Amino acid sequence: MDREEEIISWLRRQQPRAGLEAPGDDAAIVGRGSASKALTVDQQIAGIHVPADLDVAVWARRLLAVNLSDLAAMGARPRAALLTLAVPPAFPIRPFLSATVHTCRRYGLTLAGGDIARAGQAVTTMTLLGTRARGSRWVSRSAGRAGDRLWIGGDVGLSAAGQRLVARGARLVANRVSLPADLGLDAAAAVAARRAVRRHLAPRPQLELGEWLGTQRRSAAIDVSDGLAKDLHRLCRSSGVGAVIDSDSLPISADLAKLAAVVGQPAVDLALGGGEDYTLLFALPPRTTPPADFGARAIGRLIPGRRLFIEGGDGRRALDPAGWDHLK
Ligand SMILES: [Mg+2]
Repeated sequence: MDREEEIISWLRRQQPRAGLEAPGDDAAIVGRGSASKALTVDQQIAGIHVPADLDVAVWARRLLAVNLSDLAAMGARPRAALLTLAVPPAFPIRPFLSATVHTCRRYGLTLAGGDIARAGQAVTTMTLLGTRARGSRWVSRSAGRAGDRLWIGGDVGLSAAGQRLVARGARLVANRVSLPADLGLDAAAAVAARRAVRRHLAPRPQLELGEWLGTQRRSAAIDVSDGLAKDLHRLCRSSGVGAVIDSDSLPISADLAKLAAVVGQPAVDLALGGGEDYTLLFALPPRTTPPADFGARAIGRLIPGRRLFIEGGDGRRALDPAGWDHLK
């Protein structure tokens, strides 16, 4: 368990009767039956999640997207947002708010309130309220069963490559990606690099896929924020199962394969351990297959026990929560 998970299990022990309101899923479920709501909160901090000089419109959209991704993992439909800004005096508040309001409208939700305070570095925090469609269920991390097939809603690892490019000076401004000249990329690698930066800074929450999961008899999901391996460990721990990933099925895009050498990390490491993909990792009963339009791919299965493995041509090995270390 990492530090955050230790804090969450401590909190759960302090509130033994909290049920679905207890921390530990992508969102808390408050209330009962058809009146229940999903509540989630997430932050984007200058110098931690985003570069301090990031275009604030990109920043605002990213803050909303990472929160929406948590609602997607619950099968929730976004309804209202609260925004807290703790920012230095020079921070362009109006442009940030304007991008937030515009993006909220696109997703059908209202910016319903918030708070603004002065701070030494910019900390932006959003709380979202979600509802569910009539007749659908909340999706949780704990509904997986041994024998389920394991799916991923898109390719993974490209965001992590993008994050490394952003750390080296790549930027997304007014919908254009600029790359630092010293990367020395050929034309094909530059196209891949632009897509990676976009994937990292402008993730797309999989709300439609999440809603579809909520219409199924049983489904378990988590959004991949901290890396496929780590988030799979979380889903398995909540569901009380183990898992096997088929290494040949890992969704590694051609773009990621081109960038591995540029960012100096093997593609499989970025795919398993990179994080911030904001794609859904989910489990479904073996005969249930998501509609092809979602572009989801089966990557393995849940198994009895508590251990996680990755298997391929060279056999089966334990899947470390941090991903697959090539040097092991
Ligand atoms: Mg999450």
